[in-house]
Amino acid sequence: MTSTPKDQGSSEGTKLNPGDQAEPGTPGTGENLCPDCNGSGRIGVTSCPNCGGTGKIIEGISGG
Ligand SMILES: [Zn+2]
Repeated sequence: MTSTPKDQGSSEGTKLNPGDQAEPGTPGTGENLCPDCNGSGRIGVTSCPNCGGTGKIIEGISGG
């Protein structure tokens, strides 16, 4: 029988990482370096779960 490859995480809008506080492009928010991996996107040999391996998170910018 033919087995269909299981696609994890289909392209369905924006996927937020645990470290993200808002969707990218949200007013009042901005990209920031992931504090967990310091922007490297990895912790040791594993992808950083906080930023999903991007090394960046979306944080709310507090005005003052
Ligand atoms: Zn990270």
